[in-house]
Amino acid sequence: MTAAYRERVKGTLATILAHPDDETFGTGGTLIRYATEGIAVHSLCLTEGEKGWAGGEGAPVVPREHVGTARALELAEAGRRMGLASVTCLKYPDGGVVGVNEGYVVRDIVRWLRRVRPDVVITWGPDGGYGHPDHIATGLRALRAVELAGIARHEPELGDHVHVKRCYRFVAGAEFVDRLTDLEPGFAEYMKTLEVKPQRWTRDRLGAAIDVTPVEKKKREAMEAHRTQTPDLKMWNRVREKAGEVMQEELYIRAFPEPGGPPLETDLFAALRK
Ligand SMILES: [Zn+2]
Repeated sequence: MTAAYRERVKGTLATILAHPDDETFGTGGTLIRYATEGIAVHSLCLTEGEKGWAGGEGAPVVPREHVGTARALELAEAGRRMGLASVTCLKYPDGGVVGVNEGYVVRDIVRWLRRVRPDVVITWGPDGGYGHPDHIATGLRALRAVELAGIARHEPELGDHVHVKRCYRFVAGAEFVDRLTDLEPGFAEYMKTLEVKPQRWTRDRLGAAIDVTPVEKKKREAMEAHRTQTPDLKMWNRVREKAGEVMQEELYIRAFPEPGGPPLETDLFAALRK
């Protein structure tokens, strides 16, 4: 990235997530909002999501061995629709991030952070939204990498150190989880199989709530780029139809500064604009 490019953008936002649809289905509205404002938004995905849906329910079925490649391409298209500056997929095993040597994963993230040089980072929350082990592992490794990326003497061969100014963790609100489990018994059953249960992220515990209603249409268009994940897309559409009110905001807690919940922010870049 050239110095001229860095001068032109108004700031840089980076997501560090686990599967090629996490950034779109989860934080997509937030990313579209900031990309539209002229902030450079970069997405890092630790896996290609090769264990996910291989199409079906109206979408073409992709041979299992090609699902990862297909999903990386879908992420590229979703990123284009959201106006992202770059999308990167690593090839850590879907469903097995926790089993990979932590040092390797952290090192890859540090290298990437020092290249894209974000002001603000978003990663998964402590319960991974609904308890997904890859999400939880990704959040922990991302936090470690953000810290190490800022230490000049830590592996200087990975690039110039970078001080991330603010870091947020994406969470699923308690009301959303309640409505989802009511409306989608299949998903509720799946959640029961996971070791970690979603924490009750009520409003008083949140660090930021981003209103995504102005960009809802664009978010849906980006979600539709994930064609192999059509069964999930249909689930989100059913929930949106019956409980759209719990999908109007994307919710975060702060990792730093001021870890945890209040004060509740409505703009992840507000403190950096002053
Ligand atoms: Zn995921």
